[in-house]
Amino acid sequence: MISFYPGPSKLDPAVGQAMADAVQSGILSVNHRSEEFVEVCQKAVSALREKLEIPESYQIVFTSSATECWEIIAQSLTEKGGLHLYNGAFGEKWFRYAQKIRPSSVGHSFDFNQQIDLNGIRAPFQPELVCLTHSETSNGTLVPNSSMSAIRAKYPDSLIAVDAVSSMAGVQLAWEVADIWFASVQKCLGLPAGLGIMVISPSAISKTKALGEWDHYNSLAFMIEKMEVCQTTYTPNVLEIWLLGQVIKARMSITELAPILEKRAENLRALIRRLPNFELLVENQAVASPTVIAVRPTGEVSATELRQRAKEAGFLLGKGYGTLGEGTFRIANFPAHTDREMKDLAEFLESQ
Ligand SMILES: *Cc1c(COP(=O)(O)O)cnc(C)c1O
Repeated sequence: MISFYPGPSKLDPAVGQAMADAVQSGILSVNHRSEEFVEVCQKAVSALREKLEIPESYQIVFTSSATECWEIIAQSLTEKGGLHLYNGAFGEKWFRYAQKIRPSSVGHSFDFNQQIDLNGIRAPFQPELVCLTHSETSNGTLVPNSSMSAIRAKYPDSLIAVDAVSSMAGVQLAWEVADIWFASVQKCLGLPAGLGIMVISPSAISKTKALGEWDHYNSLAFMIEKMEVCQTTYTPNVLEIWLLGQVIKARMSITELAPILEKRAENLRALIRRLPNFELLVENQAVASPTVIAVRPTGEVSATELRQRAKEAGFLLGKGYGTLGEGTFRIANFPAHTDREMKDLAEFLESQ
């Protein structure tokens, strides 16, 4: 069975050997304050920095999940609350979590088939933080770089936080256009779930220090301080950090990889457009994500039935997410998927 679920998804082919090597090496029995752990952590961080082309000035910290990042950002980077721009279930969920921590957080939803209209935003304050979801995994949209730059230009004094869970390591990110980027590893990185990655700009580091929120084990100031010497505030998921280092080291740079995924997504979208029994949920190419493609069956066969047929043919497809539920299914186009597997899936869809 090949998983095209948009997370957890197909594991990177390097994971099996890397897991065995981790056990062999003894690292999983070593204390996390040891030099051995620091070395593993440093290797993972520098491989990530190199392959994803993360600027030197941006710091990397590890969390347990992207959901944890949502809370850390609200707790450690806002006093009153941020402005959340969203067009789907994950962005909205982030807003709801942030609201619990900062009740004055403001949400603004926009149509997922349109580029965000910044003039339409009626925020009651100059936001201290603007939050957006780069690749909205629930509907398969991506905020284009032009919109990201426009947001930066409209809010020059705000920090910008970006949920890049299903785009980091699959799409070339314009790091400098935002201040906090985060992802978890079970999407484009092709690892088992259980690790989050946060990438933080110098401005966000300064703001964290200025706010001085030190009340939690995962207060960002505390995490940043520890990570300066490749340490964490709690016993980390050493296996995942090891796997991350191994897997990312074996990958192409994002400059080489992103166009390959983009091309595959274009081919798949072109196919869906041609097929009589399917349509793309996101018709507007300008806002379509290359890593998650949401499809709506238009014929007599329901999305549920199609997923069942796909399973029998050896393909695990993603369920529709949130309010899109039963009407759609989702296909992940992640780096762990091969061209051959994408072609086989295309043939299956053509036969339906
Ligand atoms: C999967 C996903 C999350 C949640 O990630 P966890 O690791 O489960 O916390 C958040 N945002 C987006 C866009 C996602 O795709």
